[in-house]
Amino acid sequence: MRALVVSVHDVSPLTQANCDKIIEALRSLGVSEGSLLIIPNHHSKAPVRDNAAFKNWISDRVQQGYEPVLHGYYHARTPKPTDAGITKFTTQVYTAGEGEFFDLDRDEAISRLQMGIEDLAFLERKLNGFVAPAWLLGYEAEAAVRKVGFSYITNVGSVKVFEGVHNYYSRSLVWSTRAPWRRMVSLAWNQGLISRLRDKPLLRIGIHPADCEIPAVWSHVKSLVTAALQDRQPLSYEKFIANHVKPTSVEVGDSR
Ligand SMILES: [Zn+2]
Repeated sequence: MRALVVSVHDVSPLTQANCDKIIEALRSLGVSEGSLLIIPNHHSKAPVRDNAAFKNWISDRVQQGYEPVLHGYYHARTPKPTDAGITKFTTQVYTAGEGEFFDLDRDEAISRLQMGIEDLAFLERKLNGFVAPAWLLGYEAEAAVRKVGFSYITNVGSVKVFEGVHNYYSRSLVWSTRAPWRRMVSLAWNQGLISRLRDKPLLRIGIHPADCEIPAVWSHVKSLVTAALQDRQPLSYEKFIANHVKPTSVEVGDSR
């Protein structure tokens, strides 16, 4: 059976209420498995480590079938005085300053990854995946992710499994809610994308906490999930990789 991977992004104590609403709605639609992208200390304001209520809540979700995935440490990138040109545009404008792992050096990336692993060590399921905030992962930071022992990463266009397979191409559906014009563009873009992805083995749906606050976006997300469940099995990334990605040394996938 073809696969549906639903991932909930930016899961942290700051977004817990919305994430809970999203996960409950997914459950009522028939999704009980997926991937949760967790931020260990969101914007340096919400350390998971010190938050027993959040730990209980996320442990329950993981027990119910959700895979925990590390999603940066702070999520935000500290702007540098030397930022200019395309770097400035990419990190500060395009992503609203959220590309924490865009240009970390290897040692700093390793130290943040290890802090994240330690902070989430209370979970009963091991972290195997890493998704960079804003999907921006620099070369050095990617080397760090590999060195620390993660087995896969995702970005907007692919799932990258380190062992054997280079890239499994599959474009993720993801909505923008930051401004009305972005919402309109993302609704239209996703509608176009879904028709191209309909017959592919993997459909990826990425949901952000704010998506459930915008009625047009939220109803679009739910209608696409409902339609996908007609002939797709909901899985976490981890399970999708285990069940569907054959070890090979060539690039594979379904969509560019
Ligand atoms: Zn994020």
